[in-house]
Amino acid sequence: MRAGKQALAAFAVFVLLLCCRTDAPGPVLPASPAAGQAEIPAAKYVALTFDDGPRAGTTDRLLDGLRERGASATFFLIGEQIAGNEDLLRRMRDEGHQVGNHTWDHVMLCGVSTEEVQREIGRTDAAIRSVLGEGSYWVRPPYGLLNEDQKSGFQTPLIHWSVDPEDWKLRNAQKVTALVLRQTKSGDIILLHDFYDPSVDAALAIVDALEERGYLFVTVEELLALYGEEPQTGRFYTDARTGPR
Ligand SMILES: [Zn+2]
Repeated sequence: MRAGKQALAAFAVFVLLLCCRTDAPGPVLPASPAAGQAEIPAAKYVALTFDDGPRAGTTDRLLDGLRERGASATFFLIGEQIAGNEDLLRRMRDEGHQVGNHTWDHVMLCGVSTEEVQREIGRTDAAIRSVLGEGSYWVRPPYGLLNEDQKSGFQTPLIHWSVDPEDWKLRNAQKVTALVLRQTKSGDIILLHDFYDPSVDAALAIVDALEERGYLFVTVEELLALYGEEPQTGRFYTDARTGPR
């Protein structure tokens, strides 16, 4: 018992020491390696996000690949595609991913009435809740667009992206992978679509390459927390390095 308590105390001190490293912005970095050891790369974090699913055949293949690689991601779902794909939503939750709302039928919210926005978001939120239960299901509006005066009507943070390879247009895994690898830095939010097979191939190649460079794949919520952000409702987040707007 006593030894256990001592170990716990030592661990607490270790955690405290790690938490006190506030000299650099961004996430807490691992302690420096002892002399003679290989240098451990500084912790780098990135969030993969997938819009326009769930879709049987592509989303499940993506989930398999992410699970094999120990990578977490965030899925912004189309409400009308949830029926029949409930098992994919449960997998997302059970396998450590974040689930979010991308409207009921991918409507451009910019310029539409408050009632229509509430219907698009509320109906999708209800569909997600009916499968996953209570929770805060963050929103990404289609095309990332909202009128400035619409933002305050949202009860969750709003999520943009900082790396967009336009995978929906290219439909080419190699090109998408190369574009993302060229642009990505720690704290980025990468936009992809689990609706397309080449995008799934690209996502898994991106995870392989960036994990090799020392990146860890986390959800958007985790990414913001790692950078010390306290997410605010009705504000857009583009990456974890810059604040909301
Ligand atoms: Zn979309």
